Amino acid sequence: MQADLICVGSELLTGLIENSNAGFLARRLWSTGISVRETCVVADHEEAIRGALERALEESSLVILTGGLGPTDDDLTREAVASILGLTLVFNQQWFDKMEQFFSRRGFRMPGNNRKQAMALEGSILLENRRGTAPGAIVEKEGKYIIMLPGPPHELQAMFDEQVLPFLAENNKTRLTAVKTLKCIGIGESMLEEKIKAVGKWDLPQISYVARGYEVDLQIKGSGEREAAERSIEEAEKRLRAVLGDHIYGSDDETLAGLAAAMLTAGGLTLSLAESCSGGLLSDLITDIPGSSKFYRGGLIAYNKELKTELLGVSRELLEREGETSAATALAMAEGAKKLFRTDFAVGITGVAGPDSDRAGNPAGLVYAAVDGPGGPESRQLNLGGSRRAVKERSAQIALDMLRKVLLRL
Ligand code: ATP
Ligand code: MG
Repeated sequence: MQADLICVGSELLTGLIENSNAGFLARRLWSTGISVRETCVVADHEEAIRGALERALEESSLVILTGGLGPTDDDLTREAVASILGLTLVFNQQWFDKMEQFFSRRGFRMPGNNRKQAMALEGSILLENRRGTAPGAIVEKEGKYIIMLPGPPHELQAMFDEQVLPFLAENNKTRLTAVKTLKCIGIGESMLEEKIKAVGKWDLPQISYVARGYEVDLQIKGSGEREAAERSIEEAEKRLRAVLGDHIYGSDDETLAGLAAAMLTAGGLTLSLAESCSGGLLSDLITDIPGSSKFYRGGLIAYNKELKTELLGVSRELLEREGETSAATALAMAEGAKKLFRTDFAVGITGVAGPDSDRAGNPAGLVYAAVDGPGGPESRQLNLGGSRRAVKERSAQIALDMLRKVLLRL
């Protein structure tokens, strides 16, 4: 099955809002074996939506529209779809009552224009929106599926994962495919390719690489009937693991932070952070994990030299002798955080984010990361390339990987 995406919203065309829905949907569809033929962005104009939908229906058997399902006058997706499919909009009392409850639970009276959101396309399946008021909808027309989803990403994502994916799994009658992503770290894209090629010629399913900072996602796609596709992926995974070993840290939705979090939680262990050049990015990654309060006690962004001494207890003498960008300082920061926050583990990061060298002459991208835990402290020197943002991101990823490896050895 092939899909077309139509993202409705004038704010997407001006660049005020980034079109994150397209990326999310494409990734999810790809992982169910549905490829996206084309994504287009259209303004909040009924004619523009109609034109895009007509073109999409000529090419694809699945068309997903996002946005424009709200109560205001510029929300026109429903009307445009109705007109192209030749369907009428009918008032849905049940949904109207649901919306009223949604408002009253929050202590508000429902504005009159929300009535518009209870107008459903005849014959459509309504999709519950547990995070908002606009229902989504699935309509089938001449063997093609048209799916409408609300614009706000957190509403769209829940609706897609909980209701659209199961629907597609059941109704995707065409050639089936399966996909698995192996998550790699500590190996560049070109080295990865070289290693894979060195295995020799084998009956490989399609493999693609997606670099994300210090990580590379290896996507394996098997085609054919589901069972055959899954078997070929399994075989490929076995061979890839044999050549890549430790470079593979997980699969599919697993993340470095998620894996470290699971081990800390399972072991009843606690974590704290002392960040300098990563500016709190590591803390951000950790707190993205639901339930992180179970193991994460807190972190300190000690950007300033004096604060490293006053709050983390890094001695002045050590800072003078070794410099702020040094393994000794990263280790002393981790040790300081471990004491200050009374945790089992602590991570310290210090270095030069760039783009220029620091005052001591250390080059941009020179970073030290340290982990202190029950097994003793350890540090790593990193020589990172890329923009200021890239250096921050890679520092945080590598520090997480160090933590994960220390936890694995427990
Ligand atoms: P609402 O009930 O909130 O009006 P809606 O379905 O009408 O929902 P829109 O009005 O099109 O959706 O968009 C609502 C908000 O959702 C926008 O302000 C924007 O912040 C966000 N949004 C819409 N489309 C996208 C998109 N493609 N990518 C990321 N964010 C989006
Ligand atoms: Mg709207």
